Amino acid sequence: MGPLRILILAALLYIGYRLISANFKKTDDKKKKDTDSTQSGGAITDVLVEDPVCHKLVPKQQAHLLELDDQKIYFCSKGCCDIFVAEREKTE
Ligand SMILES: [Zn+2]
Repeated sequence: MGPLRILILAALLYIGYRLISANFKKTDDKKKKDTDSTQSGGAITDVLVEDPVCHKLVPKQQAHLLELDDQKIYFCSKGCCDIFVAEREKTE
């Protein structure tokens, strides 16, 4: 774990933050245009899902997915997913 890794991680977090805030701005500024372009593009990147463990909103494409029975649950990270699974096993 060198300082370079931390730098890369910080850069990734910053880029992610920029992307999310850019998407929020877009929907505010030109809602009409966006609905047309996002549907034709096919890639929906700005769908946010809520992590049930830490209640953070994460972009669906970057979320950690857990499929339970026929339910899909999204987490911000594998760590939160592990917590959720552990809590579930405790109550059962
Ligand atoms: Zn989380």
